[in-house]
Amino acid sequence: MPIEFRPVPKPVSKPKEKPRYKERKPKKRKKLETFKGRTIPPAKVRGSISKKEYGKVIEIYGHNCAYCFSSYIEMHHIRFRSQQGRGTYRNLIPLCKEHHGLAHRNRVFADQLRRERIQAYGEWYWADKFDLWKQNLIPNTTDKAFEDFMLKEEVKAREAVCTNQD
Ligand SMILES: [Zn+2]
Ligand SMILES: [Zn+2]
Repeated sequence: MPIEFRPVPKPVSKPKEKPRYKERKPKKRKKLETFKGRTIPPAKVRGSISKKEYGKVIEIYGHNCAYCFSSYIEMHHIRFRSQQGRGTYRNLIPLCKEHHGLAHRNRVFADQLRRERIQAYGEWYWADKFDLWKQNLIPNTTDKAFEDFMLKEEVKAREAVCTNQD
């Protein structure tokens, strides 16, 4: 008997289903810091500059380098982010490329900027509400508690400057 030829039907290749979501490798997450049962945002977030804080700096300085009035500016953290300096306006200053470079390379200039801020805003010029809350300096992390504290510091700082000049 002749072998019957039975063509095997070509397997119909199913169109590959596209995954709806790109599969992501699970990120290794650093454990977030907590304090009194609250999660504290990571340093990266606290150092970043919101539109609101950026706007406040521009209100103070205009869109110019604080030193040479060049109109090209970069926002500089007076206390560096690597040293817990936050993205709050009291810790920020607009600088041109050259003065910004100087603020990172020249220790004397960097320290001078910090001294000026201490004289204007007090020792906590670089801090955000979480820093103050963790130091028990403010009762909660509302913007109001933060601003109330910082304004009192400002008054104290100005008084100190006045007595030093007598
Ligand atoms: Zn400049
Ligand atoms: Zn900088």
